[in-house]
Amino acid sequence: MEETVGIPMDEPVALSPQPGPIPAADALKKREQSYKLPGVKKDIEKLYEAVPQLSNVFKIKNKIGEGTFSSVYLATAQSQEGLEEEIALKHLIPTSHPVRIAAELQCLTVAGGQDNVMGVKYCFRKNDHVVIAMPYLEHESFLDILNSLSFQEVREYMFNLLKALKRIHQFGIVHRDVKPSNFLYNRHLKKYALVDFGLAQGTNDTKIDLLKCVQSEAQQESCSLNKCHEIPGNKIAVGGSAPKDLDPQATTKPARRPCANEQNQTKHGKDGKEGSVGLSVQRSVFGERNFNIHSSISHEGPAMKLIKHSKTVDVISRKLTTKKKPISTKVTTGGVIKKTASSGSVHLTCDCYATDRVCSVCLSRRQQVAPRAGTPGFRAPEVLTKCPNQTTAIDMWSAGVIFLSLLSGRYPFYKASDDLTALAQIMTIRGSRETIQAAKAFGKSILCSKEVPAQDLRKLCERLRGLPSNTPKLASDAQGLASPNLAFSEKTDHKSQVQHPENSLCKGDHNGHRSGSGTCTTNSEGWDEVPDEAYDLLDKLLDLNPASRITAEEALLHPFFKDTSL
Ligand code: ADP
Ligand code: MG
Ligand code: ZN
Repeated sequence: MEETVGIPMDEPVALSPQPGPIPAADALKKREQSYKLPGVKKDIEKLYEAVPQLSNVFKIKNKIGEGTFSSVYLATAQSQEGLEEEIALKHLIPTSHPVRIAAELQCLTVAGGQDNVMGVKYCFRKNDHVVIAMPYLEHESFLDILNSLSFQEVREYMFNLLKALKRIHQFGIVHRDVKPSNFLYNRHLKKYALVDFGLAQGTNDTKIDLLKCVQSEAQQESCSLNKCHEIPGNKIAVGGSAPKDLDPQATTKPARRPCANEQNQTKHGKDGKEGSVGLSVQRSVFGERNFNIHSSISHEGPAMKLIKHSKTVDVISRKLTTKKKPISTKVTTGGVIKKTASSGSVHLTCDCYATDRVCSVCLSRRQQVAPRAGTPGFRAPEVLTKCPNQTTAIDMWSAGVIFLSLLSGRYPFYKASDDLTALAQIMTIRGSRETIQAAKAFGKSILCSKEVPAQDLRKLCERLRGLPSNTPKLASDAQGLASPNLAFSEKTDHKSQVQHPENSLCKGDHNGHRSGSGTCTTNSEGWDEVPDEAYDLLDKLLDLNPASRITAEEALLHPFFKDTSL
């Protein structure tokens, strides 16, 4: 990773490489020929227009990622030694809050650049357009390689993820969006990088000054709830409804990152369909399109792929609704009831008038407590229940969910479009009694319609991993939410969406890079004797109680890593 450079935000700046001449017309033409998607070409042109100084330094080659809050491009620059350097340009959406942008940049400049935390090279701004230039790390798509990783690779992946988390936690940064698409992994080079501090928050003693200005969303929410309580006879009740469409293109644009001191939000969405209360723009489970050239996904039309993804979500939730008695959960804090059924269907109630309807006052407030930023499937129980004191432990939970995917071969493991569905899914793995007990410890009371036992993690993972990917048993065998088969994500679904993960290894990837040992046999390596330590670490990461959950520093010293010279 490169050295970090701190750049003032007031002026458009580029430290190095030295600005070169504006690319000649024929060079431009050449560049255009390499564009894969017609839309991408337009986007690149727009970016040059919005931030003209980029063209002095970079040749933008392609778009490599697009999320709700940014678009990321691959560019090249001439280094001072005259070498061509690959750079990732993150163009933040212009509606991003300036403090939020500055905080993201400060995380990268202060904590980044070592221990698997992405650094920053330059930053450019013109008007409300900000572009962060980072060293480019070519990376694999998690889904593509998940089932071809050797057990040793999984161990290394986790070790390196924990190393990055230890680093940022030392700086009092809570990342809050730890998931595979934010942890870049180059299997060939064995390089890793934690990216995307767009949702980061500071601990009480954070060393990142600007994070002190970024108020936690839980605080914001408890404020808005408290405000609500001041109105006599009115309490909020919200259904944890699933957004109908997970296609980020269909969701609010311009969206807006959570930002400092915004409490009474205005809608940013055009149609108001999304819970677009400033701080509450939800980043869907598939909110990031990855155009990474390593990914087989990039060979499909991205819009098409996303539609398929969102369909899959529907299928899964429909599967859940077919059960006679879906598990339903309520989380209460001071009389406010949030109610949902894991079916994902909308059940709005409030307890203002003792009816099973939501009153007009509460209905009008619905936007205030709509699903917020983050990815439900990776959110810790204390986040899902909106515990106001959130610590670095929430990132450890997310690391646990990634580990669960790695050990079970299922991704995403928890596929929930809203918080309470995610909580219900957690209960089916960790046990309802256990979850309720833990929530009590952080001051939340959860009501659950059905008792489900905790699963044995080894049995669960072995069962999920051991099943042939195309077995029809898995889907049909999902008896109830308590069934260990229900990993909320099934291999059979992946198969219909994208190239089957196991194939990617056999074929090699599209750049001719060899993954692992370059053979199809890698994936069984080590999997027949997964040590107990692996499941012990998983158990400690997925500790329902944040107060006792293992820290990154402790996890690195866990016996699971003892034999690894990393
Ligand atoms: P967002 O806030 O929109 O999620 P991210 O910072 O997560 O933005 O970047 C989106 C995607 O762009 C990532 O998932 C990754 O695929 C790609 N990306 C981001 N930074 C880099 C980088 N430095 N090198 C290579 N790819 C990157
Ligand atoms: Mg991201
Ligand atoms: Zn009401």
